[in-house]
Amino acid sequence: MSTIPPVFLSHGSPMLLLEPGRTGAAWQALAHTLHRPRAILAVSAHWTTRIPAVSAAPQPATIHDFYGFPDALYDLDYPAPGSAELATQIAGLVPDIHIDARRGLDHGAWSPLRLMYPQADIPVIQLAVMPGADAVAHYQLGRKLEPLTRDGVLVLASGGLTHNLGDMVADAPDGAALRHVAEFRDWFAAALARHDLPALMQWETLAPHAQRAHPTPEHLLPIFVALGAAGEDVRVDNFHHDYQLGALALDAFRFDPV
Ligand code: ZN
Repeated sequence: MSTIPPVFLSHGSPMLLLEPGRTGAAWQALAHTLHRPRAILAVSAHWTTRIPAVSAAPQPATIHDFYGFPDALYDLDYPAPGSAELATQIAGLVPDIHIDARRGLDHGAWSPLRLMYPQADIPVIQLAVMPGADAVAHYQLGRKLEPLTRDGVLVLASGGLTHNLGDMVADAPDGAALRHVAEFRDWFAAALARHDLPALMQWETLAPHAQRAHPTPEHLLPIFVALGAAGEDVRVDNFHHDYQLGALALDAFRFDPV
């Protein structure tokens, strides 16, 4: 079975589903580059819990967990099967994990997947993030999941490298960012490029404008799970970079084990 590198995608606004642009094209190119996974574990910013949790619905519903968008977005679905088998495998790696037999797929999971694997024929389950826990806890959770990357499972972390909805500028051109957004993004991308785990684990105190870039941490936490799942020695590829609405860094990364 081929190794599949964990990835982190900044999913941006749900409008990317209707106007995929350069970001959607980068996700599609990624899917063509990777070996076809036997299953996908989506680590989404939009499922938050207190303790580790994984979904196991055999036919997960598409959750339209966004508000005030065009009707066309609510008509989209992603009817991929789930995988109770993968959830059981994960429970073997993370013994205290909660298995949620009902949870569907939120847009953090299905909006990138709909562009990457439009046929929806690869089983998908979700892993929650825990806003009450820190980067280290999420990294360690990812470390436990490392065997999956050698077993045909794509660990797809989906969040945002920056995420302050109150800072969004409706008429900002694509590619333009507020200064503090760019400074946070540049610091984080540079620390990732060095695989500087001590710095990354303390991002809340070391990164410039950390609290403003992430008033709540859930959109950044998935990246630490992906980073951990990639193993101890990692080559980091920042294969996509853009900004949306001035405040959303749309960076995407793959973490190849070396
Ligand atoms: Zn989001």
